[in-house]
Amino acid sequence: MIDDLKRKTIQINEIFYSIQGESTQAGRPCIFIRTTGCNLRCHWCDTTYAFHDGKKMTIAEILVKIRDWPCNLVEITGGEPLLQKHLSPLIAGLIAENYEIMLETGGHMDLSRIDRRVKKIIDVKCPGSGESEEMYFANLENISPDDEVKFVIADQADYEYARQVIKKYRLEDSTNVLLSPIFGGIEYKVLVKWLLQDGLQARIQLQLHKFIWDPQMPGV
Ligand code: SF4
Repeated sequence: MIDDLKRKTIQINEIFYSIQGESTQAGRPCIFIRTTGCNLRCHWCDTTYAFHDGKKMTIAEILVKIRDWPCNLVEITGGEPLLQKHLSPLIAGLIAENYEIMLETGGHMDLSRIDRRVKKIIDVKCPGSGESEEMYFANLENISPDDEVKFVIADQADYEYARQVIKKYRLEDSTNVLLSPIFGGIEYKVLVKWLLQDGLQARIQLQLHKFIWDPQMPGV
């Protein structure tokens, strides 16, 4: 295991310590490990800077870098973390150091081999993203009550799509469901009205970090 950690690398775009801006854990201190590279191109992507660049770090170097921050919650995000060949050893290294782990993924790659102790945040791409055809829906059939399914909503068509997917896969009964309006896009109160009218067992999430800091600023 120790050899693995010193040898195996991850392409890292940035690592930073902030508060969690999204998910059911919003507001908590969190360490973010952002990997480089994504094979989707969502129209509204707010982390295009993570498509390229970054540097290779061994898993041991990553663990040393985050050790001094007084925080037990780590989110692995991207980009698309599942593109990293050594994602599983990174997760194993974090588990060995007793971190609580969140993993955010675009939802288009098979998650069945991810350790069940990891809280998965699965983005379901709605039509407004331009990438809804890429979704790997089998991920929604193998979901845990601790996981979260997130729909980024650009307009009413996206909301309707999300509602149909939520009902088809009975997500209200099986996991946490999040509706995330695009920052500065759809009127938040309109989305709230639809949610209340339909009685969906989902929660609206606003991207907290974009209200606190400059919404264009990376690493917050
Ligand atoms: S999956 Fe995420 S990182 Fe990739 S293009 Fe879509 S929003 Fe951006």
